[in-house]
Amino acid sequence: MVIITGSPKKRKLPPALPERLVALSRAGSWDEAREEWELVAAWPAPGGRCLCGSRITQRALLHNTLTGRRVVVGCCCVRHFPNAAALFRALARVMSNPERPLGPAAVEWAYGRGYLNAWERGFSLDARGRHLSPRQRWTRLDIHAALIVRMAAGRGVDCD
Ligand SMILES: [Zn+2]
Repeated sequence: MVIITGSPKKRKLPPALPERLVALSRAGSWDEAREEWELVAAWPAPGGRCLCGSRITQRALLHNTLTGRRVVVGCCCVRHFPNAAALFRALARVMSNPERPLGPAAVEWAYGRGYLNAWERGFSLDARGRHLSPRQRWTRLDIHAALIVRMAAGRGVDCD
């Protein structure tokens, strides 16, 4: 039996999200409120729950720059946040397959948040799109493993 996943429904705005999110934001409308949130960290979390109530396997921690509040959402909802969607997509790709390169915007974001050091940033930017030696492939895997561990561990710290 074949189970088809990824139905078009997944792309729709979960009904519970706007109301819950606006309650935690300064703006009174969903369209303005979602601009207030930015990505703090992402890490694998099988069995976790999104703000909308859905089960999630990868967690995005969002921070409201005006109210200081934090929420956890999954891929069902993070796509609706303009300041987090693309970054989360890049990080989710690496969480699913750590051999994949991390895009430059995500590398700079991770460096700015202290999840990558200067050497790791340089390696990641330099190695992108290149054919890597076996040793360089291991280095990339090490960097991506460290990145995910640091994001998960840093979820309670103040990043501002
Ligand atoms: Zn959700």
